[in-house]
Amino acid sequence: MQLTELTQLAGIMLAGAASMRAAIGMISIAGRKYQFARQEKKYVAQFRNATAEVFRHSDVKPLNSEISWQGKRRFRVSRRVYENVNQDICSFYLEPNDRRSIPPFRAGQFLTFAVPVPGQAEPVVRCYSLSNGPDAQGHYRVTVKKIAAPENAPQGTPPGQSSTYFHNHMQPGALVDVFAPTGSFCLDEASDKPVVLIAGGVGITPLVSMLQRLIATGSTREIWLIYGVRNKSEHAMYEYLQKVARETYNIRMIVVYSQPTNTCRHTVDYHIRGHINEQLLHPILEARDCDIYLCGPAPMMKSLTGAFRNMAVPDENIRIEAFGPASSTPAGSPKKSAETAPEQTFQVEFSRSGKKVNWLPGDGSILELAMANGIKARCGCRQGVCGTCAIALQDGRVKYERQPDKNPPSGKCLPCIARPQSDVILDM
Ligand SMILES: Cc1cc2nc3c(=O)[nH]c(=O)nc-3n(C[C@H](O)[C@H](O)[C@H](O)COP(=O)(O)OP(=O)(O)OC[C@H]3O[C@@H](n4cnc5c(N)ncnc54)[C@H](O)[C@@H]3O)c2cc1C
Repeated sequence: MQLTELTQLAGIMLAGAASMRAAIGMISIAGRKYQFARQEKKYVAQFRNATAEVFRHSDVKPLNSEISWQGKRRFRVSRRVYENVNQDICSFYLEPNDRRSIPPFRAGQFLTFAVPVPGQAEPVVRCYSLSNGPDAQGHYRVTVKKIAAPENAPQGTPPGQSSTYFHNHMQPGALVDVFAPTGSFCLDEASDKPVVLIAGGVGITPLVSMLQRLIATGSTREIWLIYGVRNKSEHAMYEYLQKVARETYNIRMIVVYSQPTNTCRHTVDYHIRGHINEQLLHPILEARDCDIYLCGPAPMMKSLTGAFRNMAVPDENIRIEAFGPASSTPAGSPKKSAETAPEQTFQVEFSRSGKKVNWLPGDGSILELAMANGIKARCGCRQGVCGTCAIALQDGRVKYERQPDKNPPSGKCLPCIARPQSDVILDM
């Protein structure tokens, strides 16, 4: 990072502190009325904390369990809007085809789609984060980046199936089957700590939902949005983000371009050239006990989870969402909860592939173990929602990391969220 950029970052931080101090000053003039409101707010916050505690320690889904739907439900595209200069990131507004009400969701959650890709025997299952705030009425919004074939892939490699379908076929009026909102990467609304939202590329989507929720609820929390993209052509939701950063006194936005072009305006479009890294985050995280939400590509997740460790950020302050198989297990990410003692090692036999491997608690789910050992597996959401990965459990016992949304048929299990509880044999 250049000295000028550091100075500028310091400027953003001082401006943030100054405007927050000014706001606090104004509040104090309101005197007794404010005192009363503050008491009330304190009790509301205490109540919310207590409620959040209950949710944290149970499998209860706070918002959508009662009026949600099971399995697939048909939605119609009501509108689509390109969100970047390159026009490879597009938002899709979805309304239920049955015109009945749709459940609310928690900011940060995602929808799972069964996408009717032409030429595929079965729908392709993919997840997309909800990119609107939960307060929007009557519709959901997802924002999809069109995925091309990797640059170094052999000629003829097809582009991303689902994202290409969304961009090419999901015009207003198009229908698609959708599973209900789910996911545990959610804004903790009971917390009053500063919020640090860190996004890379299209990983901005769940964080925009959180941002919208914080704004809609009039949150007075200190909010940092740190967004890294290649340059302005890939900068998603540019106008919206500029507007909220300009108009919301408690939001500080830092945009980092890794490859700015001549037309990218330093200090206007972006603040720092390079990547989001420890040097940038250190002054922000050092001074605050904050809630961090991180969503981005695999290399960024890997490097930042390492940076958090170096900065001794407590694990419970960090929430991470990974988009898809490539980035689902960033090496160096905070350790998964070790309910299983380290000495508990089990043998996993993948009978169809003829492979036997040892599973250790650090290996994660059976699906992760299979993929790490080169075993091909069908999967969709990787969160126990869509059921795409269901396979026969031929012997042994498994335990789920979280309760599946729908139990698989008898004799089958969902390897994406299953861990062995004994030696197991699976039809994979
Ligand atoms: C919880 C969650 C939330 C998500 N939210 C979002 C979101 O908000 N927005 C978003 O855009 N994405 C999001 N994703 C990612 C999304 O689900 C998909 O993974 C993404 O759209 C790519 O899917 P695809 O079907 O288009 O690509 P795929 O068909 O899965 O292909 C992926 C890549 O593999 C390449 N490929 C295909 N075949 C081969 C081959 N034979 N050899 C080499 N390469 C090959 C393709 O060219 C492509 O580059 C999310 C994922 C999760 C898990």
